[in-house]
Amino acid sequence: MSSIIQLLPDHVANQIAAGEVVQRPASVVKELLENAVDAKATDIKLIIKDAGKSLVQVIDNGSGMSVTDARLCFERHATSKIRQAEDLFSLHTKGFRGEALASIAAIAHMEMKTKQDQEELGTHIVIEGSKFVSQEVAVLPVGTSFAVKNLFFNIPARRNFLKSDTVEFRHVMDEFQRVALAHANIHFTFYHNGSEMFNLPPSSFRQRVVGVFAGKTNEKLVPVNEETEIVAIKGFVSKPEFAKKSRGEQFFFVNDRFIKSSYLHHAVMAAYDGILKDGAQPSYFLYLSVPPNTIDINIHPTKTEIKFDDEQALYAILRASIKHSLGQFNVAPVLDFDRDANLDTPYHYKDLEGETPTIQVDGTFNPFTDDKTNKHYSNAGSSFSSGSSSGSSGSNSYSSYKKPEPTASWESLYVGLKQDTEEIGMMSFENEEVTSSLFNDDEIEQTVHKTYQIHKKYIVSPIKSGMVIVDQQRAHQRILYEQFLHNMTVNQASSQQLLFPLNLFYSSTDMEIIRELQLSLVNTGFVFESTTEEHIVISGIPINSTESEVSLVIEQLLSDLQDGIPESSFSQNDTIAKSMAKSMAVKTGTYLTEKEQDNLVNGLFACKDPNISPFQKPTFITMRVEDIDKKFAL
Ligand code: ADP
Ligand code: MG
Repeated sequence: MSSIIQLLPDHVANQIAAGEVVQRPASVVKELLENAVDAKATDIKLIIKDAGKSLVQVIDNGSGMSVTDARLCFERHATSKIRQAEDLFSLHTKGFRGEALASIAAIAHMEMKTKQDQEELGTHIVIEGSKFVSQEVAVLPVGTSFAVKNLFFNIPARRNFLKSDTVEFRHVMDEFQRVALAHANIHFTFYHNGSEMFNLPPSSFRQRVVGVFAGKTNEKLVPVNEETEIVAIKGFVSKPEFAKKSRGEQFFFVNDRFIKSSYLHHAVMAAYDGILKDGAQPSYFLYLSVPPNTIDINIHPTKTEIKFDDEQALYAILRASIKHSLGQFNVAPVLDFDRDANLDTPYHYKDLEGETPTIQVDGTFNPFTDDKTNKHYSNAGSSFSSGSSSGSSGSNSYSSYKKPEPTASWESLYVGLKQDTEEIGMMSFENEEVTSSLFNDDEIEQTVHKTYQIHKKYIVSPIKSGMVIVDQQRAHQRILYEQFLHNMTVNQASSQQLLFPLNLFYSSTDMEIIRELQLSLVNTGFVFESTTEEHIVISGIPINSTESEVSLVIEQLLSDLQDGIPESSFSQNDTIAKSMAKSMAVKTGTYLTEKEQDNLVNGLFACKDPNISPFQKPTFITMRVEDIDKKFAL
């Protein structure tokens, strides 16, 4: 019988390998930048067009290659970085597999120019889909230039699989930032479609971090420095008050290589324990140096995970050194969330003389008489307010009795509900006076409180058929979501003018997104006074937002759009409306005045789709009297 097994031709094998190494333009960027770093370049230029889909070019001033190497480097398993298996345990380079160039050449049009320092002339090679098209001698500067054009030209399925330019560009940006942050001593420049995105001269780590993330980064950073036998740690973490909602700016580098590690991330978070608000994310840029033989070098070219010999020790050291830094720079004590602000002396009282207190006694007050004016019992029976002098009881809604606000809005809600919600068992809102035998006295003015807030989380209200329980956060999300969506669709938003325009700084990646979304943001109520390469000036904000939350709102938006801006304008508006509703909605744990509760319930039932939050969670539930009866029957 004849054999049926054959060795794959090289170009087929290369194409298969390329599937693993090259997923998108950003993979090419990563490989070419790393090769340039390995070649000891001190100046590296990255030039891309159309997010790298049409062109990725990397020009370096590194070692260059000889004529033979220039040809050889495109072979699979051709590498100058290791000679024998033992070398794997003392690896100081990024590459070592000798796969990248062969893979890229298999699926793109590639041009390489390279010259070594000591040579007069260099080599110029053109290779397309693994086939050498030409090789010439040429006059060239020292170093190497790779240009990769028309990625996946011969694999249409892969080409079609690429995401929008915005998404692909973001990936490229990520790779560029990782390499640039890991090598502050190298001069990097980056051009996209002819405009300069970055120009980062050789600098200190700190300056590099600031260079990459621009703006106000510098004042946010706290240095971390630790040297032990197992690991040397240096770098920066952000002060807790600058923590963000997104996990964007979190970087670990191990032996100058960017890595991801949820374990080490956990160690950092543990160092911030108790000084971050829930869910807030600190930024960090941490450079770890470990002996090369204590990590598992078998790192897949596209993966960023790594295995350490002594992970537990690493965890402890990392956590302790960050904790130490936060403490040393006096960051931690300043942000003691548990401290009672009432115990602090306000500055203007500090050096004032104490005043002798005087007591005013109402001589006519007799707690045992039936005089109505003396009654200040709480309706709920749980609090007792000691007199009208308690003054600021405005926020303490039940401590004094007032007739409720006119209930016009409630009446209309009542009408609408009667028709709309019959099926879900909500007949109508209770509109009768509560006859309270609990409080017994006719002298206590009886009023109807149509809403009650419980646990600063739910708003409960009686309805004819029983009661309705509204989740305040979700309900508000629904209201805001519909408002924003409506405003964006009809291009009509209400803004409030800021007295002093807000200056907000962002990285250039984030600025790209903001610029792209600017029109939609204007339609939600933002007024942009100006936008530059790295910052925006906002002079007006949506009517229902506060100045202090603006940066959080934008932060959240950027984080929600991290995976790209949706293509269609509808889903773009939808994403923005959702994100803003999420960040601006009143949160669980917020006390709401009676009026606010009222508005919230009114607003919810005026929505087109009151039943669910924009994130598909129920906004309210109802409980029928029969259900309650059943519970008591048990
Ligand atoms: P690896 O980086 O794993 O060795 P590559 O396919 O990326 O494999 O590169 C193959 C070889 O080509 C490298 O080992 C190196 O000798 C050479 N080479 C690649 N890029 C450059 C460059 N920019 N400057 C000098 N030599 C390079
Ligand atoms: Mg390489």
